[in-house]
Amino acid sequence: MGNIGEFGLEGGFHGVFGGIFVNMYANVKVNNNMSEEWTPKRVSALIALWNEGLSTSVIGERLGVTKNAVVGKVHRLGLPKRGSPIKQKPRPAEIIDLASLRPGMCSWPEGEPGKDDFHFCGSPNVPGKPYCEDHCKRAYVKSTRDGRRTSAA
Ligand SMILES: [Zn+2]
Repeated sequence: MGNIGEFGLEGGFHGVFGGIFVNMYANVKVNNNMSEEWTPKRVSALIALWNEGLSTSVIGERLGVTKNAVVGKVHRLGLPKRGSPIKQKPRPAEIIDLASLRPGMCSWPEGEPGKDDFHFCGSPNVPGKPYCEDHCKRAYVKSTRDGRRTSAA
């Protein structure tokens, strides 16, 4: 009730009426807090639940907020999207282009340079060689067939 003094114009409504006013105001404020205010504690709970893979509606129930509030907050926080488990698990073989080729990867080119499907093998290479075991064999066969630098009879 001490707060009532801060509302200058309402200063005269002491007693019962002032009490009602304060209570109404307090209720509205609490409701707003429930649905809209994201306290640091609530945000961290949201992130934890999100990482657990719970659905937005379940997270909303746990936090006492609407599903929409959860969706909006997740979006604002930029939390990583979770695809459906079906989508995530069978990850298609990564296309290794020049930018993603790393030391230790087979740099055997596949496809035609300049074409969209051109990429590198990307399998773990044989230590000391630029290619994987498979492609080392192919490289060896190729150079033999070309007849260059072949010491074998
Ligand atoms: Zn390879």
